[in-house]
Amino acid sequence: MTTITARKKIIKQYRNRRVILPIIISVYLLAALFHICFMQNNDKIAILGFHNVVRDEVKRQEYPYNMWVESESVFRERIAYLYEQGYTTWTMQELYEWKCEKRKKPEKVVVLTFDDGYRSSKDIIAPILKEYGYRGTTFVVGSLVKQADETSIYLSEEDLKDQETMEYYSHTYQMHDHYNHEYAVDHFSKQQLQKDYEQQLSITDCSYVAYPFGHYNTEITSVLEENGVKLAFGYHENRKASKTDHAYTLPRFSVNAYTTMDTMKAMLESE
Ligand SMILES: [Zn+2]
Repeated sequence: MTTITARKKIIKQYRNRRVILPIIISVYLLAALFHICFMQNNDKIAILGFHNVVRDEVKRQEYPYNMWVESESVFRERIAYLYEQGYTTWTMQELYEWKCEKRKKPEKVVVLTFDDGYRSSKDIIAPILKEYGYRGTTFVVGSLVKQADETSIYLSEEDLKDQETMEYYSHTYQMHDHYNHEYAVDHFSKQQLQKDYEQQLSITDCSYVAYPFGHYNTEITSVLEENGVKLAFGYHENRKASKTDHAYTLPRFSVNAYTTMDTMKAMLESE
């Protein structure tokens, strides 16, 4: 009897082990899979792309229906929200280091970019960012900077000297245009794109480039590559950037006057 009981016990233990071991392995594999998925999703960054910001009364009087012109109070509300939620901001250099696996992403970080080089980058946006300890990047159109004086709505060469809060990089020298219903970037030859790059170098550091209208082709990407550009940005892809994105086709969210706070929150929390 004792032998039979002992044998039953051994069989029972063996059966238990056969059941328990696969369960343990499955749980372990599921946890590993969850960890990988979570880490990948969590390792994406929202790069927000703004344009012009004006005083509230100017918005009301001059740009009531212009989606690319945001009022100061709405812009401030967006920045205050980021701050309250615990977001920090990254500069281009920090974003580049993350892309090159040289910097880890904190849980909440966002990149703030401003296109076209409006004077508001210096007069309205930078002071608000400074209040919150934030940094931003403005992509300027070199030819507009060159022509700008005190009355211009665009930044002048003098304005670009202070880069403590706002840094200035390239939105090309004069490719922010259309020719025969074609994007200038598509219309011009590779030699002309190279010349444009060289002209912009006299205005800004060109390590980081935002394509005009977010539009690019293989010729402009090869010009950027030959000149050692670090990162280049599209626009309106409305998704976060990941390390698997090509360094010259990084996506940005479009944040404009019609972007509600809820939509902006959805951008920040998207996967
Ligand atoms: Zn632009």
